[in-house]
Amino acid sequence: MMYDYLIVGAGLFGSVFAYEMNKRGKKCLVIDKRPHIGGNCYTEQIEGINVHKYGAHIFHTSDKKIWDFINSFAVFNNFVNSPVAIYGNDVYNLPFNMNTFSKMWGIKTPDQAQKIISQQISKTKISAPRNLEEQALLLVGKDIYEKLIKGYTEKQWGRPCSKLPAFIINRLPLRFTYDNNYFNDRFQGVPIGGYTQIFEKLLNGTDVWLDTDYTMLKKDRIAHKIIYTGRIDAFFDYCFGALEFRSVRYENEIYDCSNFQGNAVVNYTSSDVPYTRTIEHKHFEFGTQPKTVISREYFIEQKTDTEPYYPVNDEKNNLLFGNYRELAKTRSDVIFGGRLGEYRYYDMDRVICSALKAAENE
Ligand code: UDP
Repeated sequence: MMYDYLIVGAGLFGSVFAYEMNKRGKKCLVIDKRPHIGGNCYTEQIEGINVHKYGAHIFHTSDKKIWDFINSFAVFNNFVNSPVAIYGNDVYNLPFNMNTFSKMWGIKTPDQAQKIISQQISKTKISAPRNLEEQALLLVGKDIYEKLIKGYTEKQWGRPCSKLPAFIINRLPLRFTYDNNYFNDRFQGVPIGGYTQIFEKLLNGTDVWLDTDYTMLKKDRIAHKIIYTGRIDAFFDYCFGALEFRSVRYENEIYDCSNFQGNAVVNYTSSDVPYTRTIEHKHFEFGTQPKTVISREYFIEQKTDTEPYYPVNDEKNNLLFGNYRELAKTRSDVIFGGRLGEYRYYDMDRVICSALKAAENE
């Protein structure tokens, strides 16, 4: 055996783990079936703009240790995510805050907003929310749910809100101040120069084979242990059936103008617009290039020829995942990590935290 660890996937979990083990003198091989490192964080330059090829990645955390860790690989700017939502002809600020309420109801004070929301909540007669729809109605009432949540969520997940787990909507802050910061976390930013440099540094000193599928190496025992960040059901040959994922497709366009939409992220929350959001990448780094690159994001069902992105953590799939998790326990030579390996809707900081813990345990 030539390596201590065979790490499948050059994304955040695999690369952080490789970095940590390399530091401890272990020999790692990282493989990825894509032609590049960085997983879905990968950025590439188009027209001098760092394009987030697999969707908007804004780093945010409240964990000082994780913030210091990621800052040791790149200089982060002071970008604050403040997406806007377009519904029909109206533009609303996100997350749900006093700017949103003022636009929605023509009111000015938190007291006025709270009264309207309370009235709408009391009409729902829901006490214990059983799904995302009920959770959202209980949190913000009917108007916000119908204009800013329902259409967007159903496009993103491809199923009715009444069939989705409530926790998804709890990712979004609700506040009664005029504050458009999408996240509540203490630290936030985007690496100046893009994310790929971070992975180059994390993987410095580690062997990396790109365009390499795990199935090509499966039979050769080239490492003592495997770190597997691909989908866990694929690892076990789908023996209990396939876990459901949502996939995303991007349509990129280059425009001959310096500022197309005035914001990095614009959400389209009505069901008649087929895409969920448009991303104008230059705004992540306050770019002043003469041209601009726009990505329209379409959520699609994951098929064999599309990439899995978002685990569908509904009851049925979580139960199925439970079977795989039990099976994984019988494989002490494999660690499963990341969104696909752990079947979790993970933010970047939590993935890093989990990779650091896994390295520590080793
Ligand atoms: N969400 C919404 N309206 C929006 C933005 C988000 O209802 O305009 C809800 C929706 O339920 C969605 C969840 O928040 O599934 C997370 O969305 P977000 O865009 O933050 O997802 P991510 O950035 O992780 O892809």
